[in-house]
Amino acid sequence: MDSYYIWTIGCQMNKADSERLESALGQMGLSPRTSPKDADVIVLNSCVVRQSAEDKVIGMVTHLKPLKQRNPDKVVALMGCMVGPKTEALEKRYPYVDVFMRPQQYQPLLDIVGQRMGIDPEGCVGPLTASPDVATYIPIIHGCDKFCTFCIIPYRRGREVSRPVEDIVREAELLANRGVMEVTLLGQNVDSYGHDLPGAPDLGDLLTAVNGVDRLQRVRFLTSHPNDMSEHIIDSVAELDKVCEHINLPFQAGDDMVLDVMRRGYTNDEYRRKIEQIRDRIPNVSLATDVIVGFCGETDRQFQETMKLIRDIRFDKVHAAAYSTREGTIAARNMTDDVPYEEKRARLKALEALQEQIATEINAELLGREMDVLVEGRKRGKWFGRNRNDKLVFLDNADADADMPGKMVRVSINKTSPWSLQGSLKASSNGAGAQPELAASKTAIL
Ligand code: SF4
Repeated sequence: MDSYYIWTIGCQMNKADSERLESALGQMGLSPRTSPKDADVIVLNSCVVRQSAEDKVIGMVTHLKPLKQRNPDKVVALMGCMVGPKTEALEKRYPYVDVFMRPQQYQPLLDIVGQRMGIDPEGCVGPLTASPDVATYIPIIHGCDKFCTFCIIPYRRGREVSRPVEDIVREAELLANRGVMEVTLLGQNVDSYGHDLPGAPDLGDLLTAVNGVDRLQRVRFLTSHPNDMSEHIIDSVAELDKVCEHINLPFQAGDDMVLDVMRRGYTNDEYRRKIEQIRDRIPNVSLATDVIVGFCGETDRQFQETMKLIRDIRFDKVHAAAYSTREGTIAARNMTDDVPYEEKRARLKALEALQEQIATEINAELLGREMDVLVEGRKRGKWFGRNRNDKLVFLDNADADADMPGKMVRVSINKTSPWSLQGSLKASSNGAGAQPELAASKTAIL
């Protein structure tokens, strides 16, 4: 037994879970493969937030059946949100799957691998050790206590459990020593970090601690809830030199009644005031949000409140989705999914067109500006990276053979689109020279 294949779908939390499992399997001596056919251990890390994601997972599990039947020694694991507290139904449906694991529950698979290899998996799950990317994720809080009526997360990922500050800082140090330049602190509701820990440190305290990690150059966090985005967190983003000026603050709907039915716990007006507070304190902040259109009972007039909010706030990025019922949620039990499919599509299209226009205008203002970009890799034949505002930037004059990943470069923007920017390389500065640039960019208006 010497190889593994991990297939991941869904959110960044899933990606982070897969990275941790990869790291543990790597510590046990296994190496990655790009196809399940070539691997001894096959892991499907599932997501059920949307029906389409769940359908893909079902397709993948079904697809593995003949492979497992031909190779009974392969170990097949289904992990992630599709695995709830009870696994009997899944065991019945997929008897050829060897092990079912809830999110972050790596041990059952490691025990099987350990038994087969005759080694002790104790201590293999911990901070990431597999060769990490330039920018990577650190989960800091698992689960969610909010129970929004449309969302399955609290049922599948459980209640909020925060990792101790020291663990997270140790992991950030380890990653930085291995060449990681940017970490994103992850949680379903990252702003409620710490309330369950002794002394109740909050996200602001954690950001301060991670900001102090040598060699690390950037810190981000994802995803926020408007009610938990405290003044202390906002001040921390404003003041800490490595914490990037980008906040994803989902509003989900613009109408108060829809927000109430969603059980979001704030009104349109309260959300607007939170954004004002963020912009007052962090003038160069970029903003993203998540929106659902066509939630149960949403009228066209109520949808127009969503459009107005987008028009007024002018987000840099909007992640929009048409509502679809998720079994097991409060909405699935008690509400009717009564907005016709065509209407949902039309609303989504209108919203996307509006956002495209806004993002086009916002990004066009960056033409001719200079900014720091942390290069992450190559895409579409060009080196790419992100600026502090989380804008994707392609470099048009960097040598394809140059050793670019991990370089902090100064870029002059010469082309913009709603989705990305393009620019020319001015200079690069890493290590000791990069720090003053970061500090300086805290006050730059991009
Ligand atoms: S806060 Fe986010 S993760 Fe938690 S229930 Fe609401 S939508 Fe789901």
